[in-house]
Amino acid sequence: MARETASEQLVRPLVRALQPYVPGEQPRTKGLIKLNTNENPYPPSPRVLEAVRAAVDGRLRLYPDPTAERLRQKLGRLHNCDPDQILVGNGADEILRLAVHTFVEPLAAQRGPLSRRYFVPPAPATVQSFVPSYSLYPVLAAQQGAAFNPVPLQMEFALPDPGQLKHLKQWQPQAALTIVTTPNAPSGRGYTTREIEAICTRTKGVVLLDETYAEFAPEHAMELALKLPHVIVCRSFSKAYSLCFLRIGYAVGPRALIQAMHKLRDSYNVNGLAQVAAEATLDDPAYYRENFRKIAETREWTSDQLRQLGFLVLPSQTNFVLARPPGPPASEWFRRLRENNILVRWFDTPDLASYLRISIGTPGDMETLVRVAKRLLKKIG
Ligand SMILES: *Cc1c(COP(=O)(O)O)cnc(C)c1O
Repeated sequence: MARETASEQLVRPLVRALQPYVPGEQPRTKGLIKLNTNENPYPPSPRVLEAVRAAVDGRLRLYPDPTAERLRQKLGRLHNCDPDQILVGNGADEILRLAVHTFVEPLAAQRGPLSRRYFVPPAPATVQSFVPSYSLYPVLAAQQGAAFNPVPLQMEFALPDPGQLKHLKQWQPQAALTIVTTPNAPSGRGYTTREIEAICTRTKGVVLLDETYAEFAPEHAMELALKLPHVIVCRSFSKAYSLCFLRIGYAVGPRALIQAMHKLRDSYNVNGLAQVAAEATLDDPAYYRENFRKIAETREWTSDQLRQLGFLVLPSQTNFVLARPPGPPASEWFRRLRENNILVRWFDTPDLASYLRISIGTPGDMETLVRVAKRLLKKIG
């Protein structure tokens, strides 16, 4: 034990005090219907699987392209921008971490211990986001030794009226980095490009639009990253393109911001198979369009069915829904569903504890969910 303590003393105080991010579980239980981490229920396109298989040979001994140049060229054509305005990362998570690292100063040591980081700190050392949203953001701020400023969303997870922002006590237009999840997670609510733009133009620091779920939505705000000097859009191949396993995401934005982020990434941050898979993905848009259509259809069917059972289901523009179950607390529903081999997500925070977040699976998965929910409602409702 003494040795443990001696070792612990060698770790930076900031790191010792960190509460790590808690990812959704990945149990390997047979027959489990896994609706807890917003994975896509459909496999990648057959062309993607073929391309990855064809790349598995003696070439694994070589380093991959350090900047994923071919992929950036394809993405540049897709988004109508220069490949220099794109950064590819080891998942959108790495993009988010790089953004915090690149734009946000750590709080100066003399400003007091990190446990006081929710006190209003100097803006250059602040990451701000609307809450609730992705719970990784405050963790990234803490890792950087920066403050996190949570700005509450309005009723039904609406963004604050941009015209009223300056009257919101919690809002800091000077925050070094403001992250907006659009469409929002975990609510699934979508926002219009116009309202996103109005928020951006009232913000002085960098705005990162986390568009992880944009492919499922009717609208996205990529044009803002190509037009405004302080806006970056971040996308992922995980959810829409069924590539969680390979870890790949990217950022698009002004050249100066993107090039600054490049300086802080690992030299070979994106593995070669992920690059091959992402390139092949972009070559088969028709497959994915059909996939998005099917998921939207299943989402609407599931929402209808759950509403008929008395759930309050929020409208969603993503591949998941946030639903408030009738009867017993959501935590009880979570437990009961799990006993029946259905895993959903329950967040133990005041603003979300009465909801379940349910990823959209195949029609078969969702029929099972509805059937089990009906049975549970008879028993416990
Ligand atoms: C899943 C998710 C991410 C992370 O995506 P990866 O590309 O798998 O790292 C980022 N932001 C939000 C809002 C997400 O839901």
